[in-house]
Amino acid sequence: MSNAPRSPDEGQASGPSPIPTIGPFLGLARIAYFSMEIALRAEMHTYSGGLGVLAGDTARASADLELPMVFVTLLSRQGYLHQRFDAAGEQIESPDPWLPERYAVPLRAKVAVIIECREVWVRPWLYKLESALGNPVAVLLLDTDLPENAPEDRGITDALYGGDDVYRLKQEIVLGIAGLRVLQALGFQIGTYHMNEGHAALLALDLLRRYPRPADTWTAGELRYDVARVRSACIFTTHTPVEAGHDRFAYAMFERVLHGYIDIDQVRLLAGAHDLNMTLLALNLSGYVNGVAIRHAQTATAMFPGYDIRAVTNGVHVPHWTHPRLAALYHRHSHDWGYDPEVLVRFDQLLPDAAVWDAHRQAKSELIEMVAARAQVQLDPEQPVLGFARRMTAYKRPDLLFADLARLRDIHARQPYQIVLAGKAHPRDQPGKDLIRRIHELIRELAPRIRIVFLANFDLDIARRLVAGADVWLNTPLPPLEASGTSGMKAALNGVLNLSVLDGWWVEACIEGVTGWAIEDHQRDASVALYDKLEHTVLPLYYHDRARWIWMMKQSISKIGSYFNSHRMMRRYAAEAYIQRRPAVRVVSHAPPIVSS
Ligand SMILES: *Cc1c(COP(=O)(O)O)cnc(C)c1O
Repeated sequence: MSNAPRSPDEGQASGPSPIPTIGPFLGLARIAYFSMEIALRAEMHTYSGGLGVLAGDTARASADLELPMVFVTLLSRQGYLHQRFDAAGEQIESPDPWLPERYAVPLRAKVAVIIECREVWVRPWLYKLESALGNPVAVLLLDTDLPENAPEDRGITDALYGGDDVYRLKQEIVLGIAGLRVLQALGFQIGTYHMNEGHAALLALDLLRRYPRPADTWTAGELRYDVARVRSACIFTTHTPVEAGHDRFAYAMFERVLHGYIDIDQVRLLAGAHDLNMTLLALNLSGYVNGVAIRHAQTATAMFPGYDIRAVTNGVHVPHWTHPRLAALYHRHSHDWGYDPEVLVRFDQLLPDAAVWDAHRQAKSELIEMVAARAQVQLDPEQPVLGFARRMTAYKRPDLLFADLARLRDIHARQPYQIVLAGKAHPRDQPGKDLIRRIHELIRELAPRIRIVFLANFDLDIARRLVAGADVWLNTPLPPLEASGTSGMKAALNGVLNLSVLDGWWVEACIEGVTGWAIEDHQRDASVALYDKLEHTVLPLYYHDRARWIWMMKQSISKIGSYFNSHRMMRRYAAEAYIQRRPAVRVVSHAPPIVSS
């Protein structure tokens, strides 16, 4: 590929696929959505898990709804991590490079940020995401791998969530500060900045720097910038109550990396006295803040008292996650279901049982094929498949299902089931990696009687097969740590029934015995509650009352699909955060305080 930068406004002269131009997007976008990761397609390794998939579904929905948005993320040339297992079930990690030039186009614009007193140049690549109706949305992927950069800076945008704290801070400088400047360099007129998680909070700090207050309006120890102005432009979505999910940087390091950028005492007023907490920074600089489910907004409010944290419950992009056979069935009953998933609400009354079951059998046989090809295990189409796939980390408790092997064998002897697992652990999450190895040991102990497979290298493609082809979707987080969870929504709109601990989104979606089942996690050991529900409710229904099972599949499709979708989510962001900022239903009696912790 030629290294010569192309003009942002130039189309390709010839060839089958014209290069998208930035021109048409310029006049439209008023809202910029910043995310460290965005899952656009499986071949583009610009995501690690749920946060990125949510950002991808956000972009897909905003294209469908023709919202005036532009998306900003890192190019992540080396991806997140490629996962294999050794004979002992240990996670083996390697870089996961991809080919940006296959999917995106480098733009001519280029901006600089000063990092460690060096100029670091950042160039955006344009990925054009198109909705089913042909409406495009621009995703800008930021890249520091330019010949004009020092060798050590060329890799800043390489490894998603890689490296140490210094590397992470540099990535967040590129995302937040360079991202903001790239939008300006390209001529975007942005009025609203949406920070998807705290990683992008430096964009708000860069905005703040532009609005100093006149010297006679502040005294020593006070903020010398116009916070209200920044808040009126910024929206912040927080995504996790887990402490490790909130970036904290030592001020000494921040000062070394961003030497002379801003007076650190000013940052302390906004981001905490002891270290720079990116969540606090975002909270203090945003005029609208939300958690990603009702339960999570309550948890986040308890974690950050004094802030008005709303709830916009996550949703998934229905056309993206629906299996083609079910999609064809849905299409027979409504031509609008993809654009307007609310219409699914009547589908419990409309869908013929046999057609739903046929479509599910097809999705299941594709999953069985994939498992045979990837793991050389032959699943039985007559036995229910329990699916569990997500980031492997302690609070998600992927080992809860394996707490009592004798009980598992006992249940299996009378009502056989099979299990498919998948998920990566972050390279620095040793407990997560230990869980992966431990689960492999348990799988070996239960084999060959119980068929259990752990698929390597979980990604968008595996996720699509799994959430459509399983029979039961299992989730066992430790409450209240699952902020929302989204994989269960994907399963539900394929008629895959959720069996889940009541946390995150499931608190809002579970109607016992109708949309799925709850694992009651109080009083007793959660694993006992899980086994009891499996043995006495879920498996008997699967084996002895198929009509009621299919009835539940249709309840799940209609009740969950019609609400827990990204179209509803984006309409809410548009109405409550992007346009209005202050919904009339909740009067704010005080401005969010500036706290230092
Ligand atoms: C949906 C999805 C997730 C999120 O799963 P949760 O159960 O919400 O944690 C993670 N990774 C991939 C690839 C997904 O598609």
